[in-house]
Amino acid sequence: ADSAAAAGTGTEPPKKFPKGVVLGKDGKPCRTCTSFASWATQTKSALKASAPPKDCPPDVEQLGRSTWTLLHSIAATYPPTPTPKEQADLKSFMHLFSKLYPCWVCAEDFQAYLRKQEVRTRSRDEFGNWLCEAHNEVNRKLGKPTFDCSKWEERWRTGWKD
Ligand code: FAD
Repeated sequence: ADSAAAAGTGTEPPKKFPKGVVLGKDGKPCRTCTSFASWATQTKSALKASAPPKDCPPDVEQLGRSTWTLLHSIAATYPPTPTPKEQADLKSFMHLFSKLYPCWVCAEDFQAYLRKQEVRTRSRDEFGNWLCEAHNEVNRKLGKPTFDCSKWEERWRTGWKD
């Protein structure tokens, strides 16, 4: 989704916001959709050049890092041979997750990805690789390097081989 979203739906003319500030569906700036750097440009705060404070609401990056940690850790603890119920629970979780994710632009793109690439849950290995590919899709969209998915378990489950 376009990060310079203007989402106002009322009759008022849209307000101007600095580049990079993503608006929520209510037409107001969406903090969990916006990087701290962009967010700070619209405040009078002296924090502009610094890193986001640890005890403030998350920006899109902090939220993303924490969420990937949770999702890859779910993959790391998912059974190698899950029961049909465990597979169904994981599918439900991922679909609900994609609807509830607190950055709406991220959520809409992730829902579109799920429609294209159905979540694979038949084993830990299968889900871990599916998730790694899904994360790489976001990396590509953001212009970040992609991750070698043959290493997902070392990164998230076993630790790096010496
Ligand atoms: P992150 O991408 O957060 O990754 C954390 C760590 O995971 C990395 O340090 C690396 O060790 C490891 N890693 C990286 N890639 C992989 C991989 N493929 N498989 C396994 N491990 C990996 N941000 C936006 O600005 N726009 C969006 O549309 C957007 N959509 C998102 C959708 C989802 C579902 C999620 C969870 C996050 C989204 N984000 C989005 C946030 C974005 O993905 C990053 O989390 C954020 O930019 C911080 O990036 P980072 O460089 O710190 O590393």
